[in-house]
Amino acid sequence: MNKADSERMAGILKSMGYIEAKKELEADLVLYNTCTIRDNAEQKVYSYLGRQVQRKHSLPHLKLVVAGCLAQQEGEALLRRVPEIDLVMGPQHANRLESLLTKVETGNQVVATEEHHILEDLTTARRDSKICGWVNVIYGCNERCTYCVVPAVRGKEQSRTPDAIKKEIEDLAINGYKEITLLGQNIDAYGRDLPGINTNGRRKNTLTDLLYYVHNVKGIERIRFATSHPRYFTERLIRACAELPKICEHFHIPFQSGDNYILKQMARGYSIEKYMRIINNIRSLIPHAAISADVIVGFPGETNQQFKNTLNVLERIGFDHVNTAAYSPRPNTPAALWKNQLSEETKIDRLQEINELVEKIAKQRNERYRNKIEEVLVESINPKDNKQLMGRTRTNRLTFFPKSIINRSINIGETINIKIDSIRSFSLSGTPIN
Ligand code: SF4
Repeated sequence: MNKADSERMAGILKSMGYIEAKKELEADLVLYNTCTIRDNAEQKVYSYLGRQVQRKHSLPHLKLVVAGCLAQQEGEALLRRVPEIDLVMGPQHANRLESLLTKVETGNQVVATEEHHILEDLTTARRDSKICGWVNVIYGCNERCTYCVVPAVRGKEQSRTPDAIKKEIEDLAINGYKEITLLGQNIDAYGRDLPGINTNGRRKNTLTDLLYYVHNVKGIERIRFATSHPRYFTERLIRACAELPKICEHFHIPFQSGDNYILKQMARGYSIEKYMRIINNIRSLIPHAAISADVIVGFPGETNQQFKNTLNVLERIGFDHVNTAAYSPRPNTPAALWKNQLSEETKIDRLQEINELVEKIAKQRNERYRNKIEEVLVESINPKDNKQLMGRTRTNRLTFFPKSIINRSINIGETINIKIDSIRSFSLSGTPIN
């Protein structure tokens, strides 16, 4: 989500005539798009800002902008802490960057963090990839998970209309994009705030309806979506994914804890049994689907047994990938105020233990690709080895392979069959075949 916001803001700066500086310490305007999901992300921003503040003392024309979730969380307090900042802007204001910078030009310090209806994006994002594009479909989140700062910093749910989304996808296709990822903090909430009921009394604009609606855009070969919420994940959605050929066989469904008591404390609104049912449904309809998830360890009060229950779910499900995090108390969230916080040492130990298991399981899961032929969309040159290209399988496995096949070079943006001959925990390598 932050990457997509950054690309939109970079597009606005480009349309205003800004050119990307080669180095951060050479720029006349520096914009940090910040994250506050964990404390260490927050601390990094202050350290980056420190360097720019030093520069600003000798370069008064230097403009410093702090955007994103930390900006929203801290608001004016950020200006008190770092008075050299010119503009503090929350994520809902990303599309207003030009008008906010115009105010800054008049010599004002500006804070834009009020609740704001997100404007339909009129500027072309400056996207990092020419092949795969992010498409926001819903902003904000109305859930109240007790550990999570997102609703406080990204505001209420605001869905874009199906037509606006489809138009953006058509534009991407015209510009040569092959893959799109539909984005929402809780993408299953898509359309809850849009009007419309079907004749059968069902809501008209669900994520499933949206998938059917955008599926036929010519030129787009692959469609992904994230992030799913087990509370709202429907069987109808799984059936649509099985039926629509462009929808990739990868589901990212955070489960956060394998223990029902902790899930309740987190206010997630599902049990681990319901989560298992979703995974079983996916696997019965789409047997080769990859499943990934997010997990938090060391939530307040988590006992050793409750932690073991999480490890147990990892083994039972056999995830292709899991993003793990040690619980980090966030401002303005209920769990941060609870007295039963665990020590940093326990959290780090549990994180280490779970990471080892995640890696082991991911490698076991990857064995299923050995000697198989996988369809890979070529995304770029491997930044660590320019003799290789890289791309992803439909199941989202990063794959590396040589740049040519028989007597021709392979092009970025091409879809190519790769015979997988080398397996690691988080990536594959192989040989292109005709
Ligand atoms: S659904 Fe996701 S974004 Fe929303 S509050 Fe829960 S964890 Fe945060």
